[in-house]
Amino acid sequence: MKERFTGSFTQQEPIPDEGIEAALSVLRHGRIHRYNTVPGEAGEVALLEEEFAAFTGARYALALASGGAAMTTALRAIGVVPGDRVLTNAFTLAPVPGAIAAVGAEPVYVETNEALVIDLDDLASKVGQASVLLLSHMRGHLCDMERLSDICREAGITVIEDCAHTMGAAWNGVPSGRFGLVGCYSTQTYKHMNSGEGGFLITDDDEVAARAIIGSGSYMLYGRHRSRPPEEVFERVKYDVPNVSSRMDNLRAAILRPQLRALERQVDRWNERYRAVEAGLRNTPGLTVIDRPAEERFVGSSIQVLLSGWDAASVRDVVARCAARGVELKWFGAAEPVAFTSRYDSWRYAPVPDLPMTDRVLAGLLDMRLPLTFSVEDCELIARIIRAEVSAVYQGQAAAE
Ligand SMILES: *Cc1c(COP(=O)(O)O)cnc(C)c1O
Repeated sequence: MKERFTGSFTQQEPIPDEGIEAALSVLRHGRIHRYNTVPGEAGEVALLEEEFAAFTGARYALALASGGAAMTTALRAIGVVPGDRVLTNAFTLAPVPGAIAAVGAEPVYVETNEALVIDLDDLASKVGQASVLLLSHMRGHLCDMERLSDICREAGITVIEDCAHTMGAAWNGVPSGRFGLVGCYSTQTYKHMNSGEGGFLITDDDEVAARAIIGSGSYMLYGRHRSRPPEEVFERVKYDVPNVSSRMDNLRAAILRPQLRALERQVDRWNERYRAVEAGLRNTPGLTVIDRPAEERFVGSSIQVLLSGWDAASVRDVVARCAARGVELKWFGAAEPVAFTSRYDSWRYAPVPDLPMTDRVLAGLLDMRLPLTFSVEDCELIARIIRAEVSAVYQGQAAAE
């Protein structure tokens, strides 16, 4: 009998008991709004911001309603205005070009290469087209961050990092989110900490931090932030930044604080699972595992493989055969977006350019989530199933040729 996997690819772990207790205490006192505090009380959001800034090494952190809100707030805070063009990855998730469009700007897509990162040669050829790069570390893959920083510095490009999949990751020991002027994170359920919805931005820049705090809706209560620049910085910007309410609340912050304390350990658990799947898939004929650079401390909350040069029907066959055995793979080469949108040609509100490299990569790109509810044995089983089905279809293809 063929082995079958019966776990759920969308089931995350429960909120730690400590977080549940903290949330109940917020519910009992009722002060859920971040600025609703009693004398001597900092509030869960302000404390979380202070802790998140310390975790990343940034001077300032601001907690927000979502990762998308973090990116939109960041773009506004650095002064992107309607009509501007913003460079970004052709392969990312819809909230990234969505944030650019939300401020009235236009995305200019940069190719994604076989390492699943922004193609730095293509970036270098496009730096004349914009003065901002919203860099998405899509699926947790970090590009050569020193080279990217050099290219952008020389061209006068301001970098904002989308770290939705790299919270807890680093390049050469520098945390993801610390290369750009601003780093943005998501705490939506499928990311590395779970508050349902939520996000952060971090920065070292006084003015950007003040503009972001005012812009996210501080009602002139910015004094209650613990992670913030001095008052005089707010004095300079407080009448100039429109309020677009996108604050985090104390309930979400209460459940995130214990998760932040556990994050390093969770990263190790993710990577143990990732390495188990990766080891099981290595040397499968027709399938390419994506080698992780030694400089990269990644978070293996999902894994990607390439079926390079395969025809669409065969890739679809692999996805269907794996699904029949309980293994849910996403295929980024499908013409129509299903349950996610990550292809630049699905975002028709913006110009759709020719991106042959990205097209080639996405045509063979399979993706799988690795929730921590999976055991390492689950991951070994999943790898055996994928390996068997890829091999069967690949041999069938070879026989037909
Ligand atoms: C999830 C995600 C975001 C942010 O998403 P929100 O749902 O707005 O928190 C940003 N970028 C990528 C690549 C993502 O996957």
